[in-house]
Amino acid sequence: MSARILVVDDVPANLRLIEAKLGAEYYEVITASRGEEALLKAWREQPDIILLDVMMPGMDGFETCRRLKTDPETRHIPVVMVTALDQREDRLRGLEAGAEDFLSKPFDDVQLLARVRSLARLKVVIDELRSREASGRRIGLIEKDAWGDGGLGGRILVIDDAKRQADKIRRALEPEHTVVMMGDADEASGGLDLFVVSVTAESFDGLKLIARLHSGDGAKRLPILAVVDPDDPARCVRALELGAHDIIYRPIDPDELASRARSLIKRRRYVEALRQSLDESLELAVTDQMTGLFNRRYLTSQLEPLVQRARRGGEPVSLMVADIDYFKRINDSYGHDVGDEVIKEFAARLATNFRPVDIACRYGGEEFVVVMPGTRGDYACLVAERVRRHMAGSPFVIRGGLDRIEVTVSIGVAVSAVGADSAERLLKRADEALYKAKQTGRNRVMSEAA
Ligand code: GH3
Ligand code: MG
Ligand code: MG
Repeated sequence: MSARILVVDDVPANLRLIEAKLGAEYYEVITASRGEEALLKAWREQPDIILLDVMMPGMDGFETCRRLKTDPETRHIPVVMVTALDQREDRLRGLEAGAEDFLSKPFDDVQLLARVRSLARLKVVIDELRSREASGRRIGLIEKDAWGDGGLGGRILVIDDAKRQADKIRRALEPEHTVVMMGDADEASGGLDLFVVSVTAESFDGLKLIARLHSGDGAKRLPILAVVDPDDPARCVRALELGAHDIIYRPIDPDELASRARSLIKRRRYVEALRQSLDESLELAVTDQMTGLFNRRYLTSQLEPLVQRARRGGEPVSLMVADIDYFKRINDSYGHDVGDEVIKEFAARLATNFRPVDIACRYGGEEFVVVMPGTRGDYACLVAERVRRHMAGSPFVIRGGLDRIEVTVSIGVAVSAVGADSAERLLKRADEALYKAKQTGRNRVMSEAA
C-alpha cells in the first residue's frame, strides 16, 4: 500500500536519509524543515502520515503536533514523533500533544516501515469515512462533530498471564476506564473499546491471538495494544503486521500506557461516530420515509447510468410506473390516515415482487416506479402483471381489520432502447403506457408496444 508521508526535520541530512528509506519502499515523501512549514504543508498537501522531529528551532515538535491536532483539517492525520533518545519525558509530552506513535533515532528500518504500514492502513479507513461524511454534511444531514471525545471511560480487556504485569496494567488503566482481566466472569459481556494483549505471555501465543482478533468483522474491529519486549524487535514488527494498532514496551510505564489507551479509544470512537452518522445520513438521503422504499432522487441517480449502458448495446433495463386507481376516493371515504396506511401496505406488497437488484421507489403520492436492470420488456410485463394481481387479489386490511379495502393498480411498462435514449424518455414512455391503462379501464398492465 502506498502512502504520502510528510517528513519534518530541521537537519537536511536526516531528511535525505528518511526520504531515501521511504522512497525505496515506494512511499511518496514530502519534506519540511520547520514547524510552521509543516503545518502549512500538512494543511495543503493532506499527507497520510507525518513523521515529526521533536527537536527543532522555533516551533518544536510538541507544539507543531498540538497545532496539527487542534485543526479540523489535519487532526485526523497520524503523527509519529521522532525523538533523539528513548526518553520517557519526550514520549509522554508527545502523547499528550496527540501524537499517535514514536520512533527513536537512529531508526530501525524494519520498525519504521512496519509502523508506517500500520498507520497507513488506518488512514485509508478514516479517509474513506471522512470523505463520505463531508458529502453528508453538505446535504445538511450530519450535525454532530465526531472528534473531541477524550478517550476516557472505556472498557478494556487485558489479556496477559503474567500476574504482576497484568496487575500493573490494571492499576494504570483503572482510574480512567473499566478494566476486565482475561478469565474474569464478565470478560465476554460485550461492549469493549480496546484489547491489551501481551506478546510475551507463556501460556498462549500473543501473536496468534492478535491475528485472530484482527481478522474479525472489519467494521467492528477493536483496537489492539500489544505489550512487547524491546529486546525482541522481530516480534514487535510481527505484532504490528498482524494487526496490532499500537505497541508498548516492557517494563510498562503506567503514564505512557494510560496515554496510549486514551488515544486508541479516542480514535476508535471517532471512526465509530463517523460510520454511524454516515449510515444514518445515507439512509435518510436515499429512502422514502413513509414506505422505506427508495426515494425519487435515488432512483433518478441510478437510472441514467443503466439507460446509458443499455443504449450503447449493454443489457436492457425495464421500468414500470404503477399508480393506485381511484386513490382520491379512498382518502375521501376513509380519511387521509387510512390513505397513508394503504400506501404503506401497497409498498410492502410491491417490494415482495422484486429481486434485490431491482430498485423500487415511491415516486410521489400514490405513484411508484420500479427499475429492473438486465430485464427485457416481455419479462417486465409478466412481473407487472404479477404485481397487479397481488394488489387486486385480496383486500388491504387496515387498522387491525377495521377496514378492508379493495385496491387496484394500473401499470405502464417500458424498456430501454439502443441508440438515442435517456432516463427521462424511458420514464415518459412508461408514463404514456400507464395513461393508456387508465384510459382503457384501470386495473391493468400496458406496455409501450401495445
Ligand atoms: P387515478 O385512478 O386516475 O390514478 O385516480 P386517483 O384518485 O388515484 O388519482 P389522483 O391523482 O386524482 O389523486 C391522487 C390523490 O392522492 C390526490 C392526493 O391528495 C392523494 N395523495 C397524494 N399523496 C398522498 C399521501 O401521501 N397520503 C395520502 N393519504 N394521500 C395522498
Ligand atoms: Mg392514482
Ligand atoms: Mg396519481
